[in-house]
Amino acid sequence: MSSTNSTKSTLSKAEIQGVVTSNDPSISFKKPTGVRSEFWTNYSQVYHKNIVQDYIICLQRRAVLKWISENGIIVMSHHNCLKNKPVTTTPSRQRTISSYCQ
Ligand SMILES: [Zn+2]
Repeated sequence: MSSTNSTKSTLSKAEIQGVVTSNDPSISFKKPTGVRSEFWTNYSQVYHKNIVQDYIICLQRRAVLKWISENGIIVMSHHNCLKNKPVTTTPSRQRTISSYCQ
């Protein structure tokens, strides 16, 4: 029986989100080294008491995302809250029947 549970002093995602939301001074953010910065514009890696965590934060909504370096940019490309703009209730579409009955 091999348990791979890490005994590092890492926090759970909920705990990370909690300290992020409450602006706890023990949390800090830093972009990892060796990454393509264009994908990290809106993200930073999460540090708790200067210990790197397996999480990143989306700077747009301060959302915590599970991330390890092996994930690369997959997590970001799946997240995309920038693209998920709040959906405004669109008025009933007007049918544009142009150049239909010629
Ligand atoms: Zn986001």
